[in-house]
Amino acid sequence: MTSYEAVIGLETHIQLNTKSKIFCSCKADSWGDPPNSNICPICTGQPGSLPTPNNAAIEKGILLAAAMNAEIQPISYFDRKNYFYPDLPKGYQISQYDLALAKGGYMDIPLQDGSTRRVRIQKLHIEEDAGKTIHKPGRRLLDFNRCGVPLVEMVTKPDLRSADEAALYISRLRQLLRWIGVSYADMEKGHLRIDANVSIREAGNQELNPKTEIKNVNSIEHIRDAINAEIQRQIKEMKEEHVIHSWTLDWNEDTQTLSKMRSKETEADYRYFREPDLLPIQVDKERKEEILTSLPELPLARKKRFQEKYDLPNYDADILTSGRSLSDYFESTAASYGGDPKQASNWLINHLLGLLNERGLSPEDLYLTPQYLADILSMIDEGSINTSTGKQLLTKVEDQQKPPRDIVEEEGLAQVSDSAAIQSICKEVIAENPSQADEYREGKGAVLGWFMGQVMQKTGGKADPQAVRAALRELLQE
Ligand SMILES: [Zn+2]
Repeated sequence: MTSYEAVIGLETHIQLNTKSKIFCSCKADSWGDPPNSNICPICTGQPGSLPTPNNAAIEKGILLAAAMNAEIQPISYFDRKNYFYPDLPKGYQISQYDLALAKGGYMDIPLQDGSTRRVRIQKLHIEEDAGKTIHKPGRRLLDFNRCGVPLVEMVTKPDLRSADEAALYISRLRQLLRWIGVSYADMEKGHLRIDANVSIREAGNQELNPKTEIKNVNSIEHIRDAINAEIQRQIKEMKEEHVIHSWTLDWNEDTQTLSKMRSKETEADYRYFREPDLLPIQVDKERKEEILTSLPELPLARKKRFQEKYDLPNYDADILTSGRSLSDYFESTAASYGGDPKQASNWLINHLLGLLNERGLSPEDLYLTPQYLADILSMIDEGSINTSTGKQLLTKVEDQQKPPRDIVEEEGLAQVSDSAAIQSICKEVIAENPSQADEYREGKGAVLGWFMGQVMQKTGGKADPQAVRAALRELLQE
């Protein structure tokens, strides 16, 4: 039986998070604004208006290109991509064609089996967005707010081999975009839009068969579903010896089906030519170096460093580098703490993330600074508080906006490890519960846990659990 493999490439449109649009001073982010409220003669292409490039958009494009290991070009050009569509008032889109901002590039994606998939970049350039057509029964409404919003279009080579790999690529890309601060990458708001090119071939073959393009999918889960559906459809067609046409397909989330939108355009259909109203983009060595000083250590490099420097397992390092501010928080905590970094990692993953989720906060919003978390961990190590008090302190510090050491002092939370005090409380509890004491002596070991609970309750959870356990065992033997 023939087995098939999928050959997938992704086209992404990334909305850069600049304040203003790419060629005019209109506000770039129109989310929630009324239609056509952020427009001007330039972004709606009125006769006589002239575009002025927004440096911030170019710089963010360069940062992204560098993060994708692409080669920044010293000179690149804007071109007009001509097509007629109601939501494109100029009749052309200013884009880049043959001499774009960057060349080459790749992103390495760690796969679940521990191997790495290198996804090469075919094309990376900056361009302006078009407007939006809103379909209402019997009419079409046009919103030009999005005209002129800065985008990076980035197209991968067909290097992905399954819907799951495509999903992993997108989530790594989203992580990277947020990490380097060039886009909010919110797919629901259209900051990161993905089209998938899908073809199949007999496993082991090298040829590329005709591909289809899936458009209009706005979540990672739906892209995975749509690609899987298209792979299955193509396998069926191929088995029945039908020709696979280069269609553009629309994914319907509700019915989980693909439908044909149109035949795919080719580049020749767009009659590209140089944009006569804009000078080339020049990025000399000095300018490039200056821009790249703000490029941080990237997520996968940081993950690898966390594993090596702090001896953390893959799982921990992956979670701690899921966002840049979380990874900064971990690193500051580990530095202030000075104890076992794995302990700091456990507290972040098991307790701090829960607190952040519960309150909808980012690490940098917390009153509980890395220094305070480190103080809590040190107090536990010193034996001055027990673990359960430590956990309570996380919320107390946040609620009371006070340093943990002050709270411990004010509320008398210090651990009771004085053996005479613990002995006397244990004696009391045993005397009050003779029948449970008998059960223990008759061999019901589990009752010890119940006694532990009673003693902890009496001490307000402050007793050193190990000392309590030892004292109870000893006293119950008598
Ligand atoms: Zn404008």
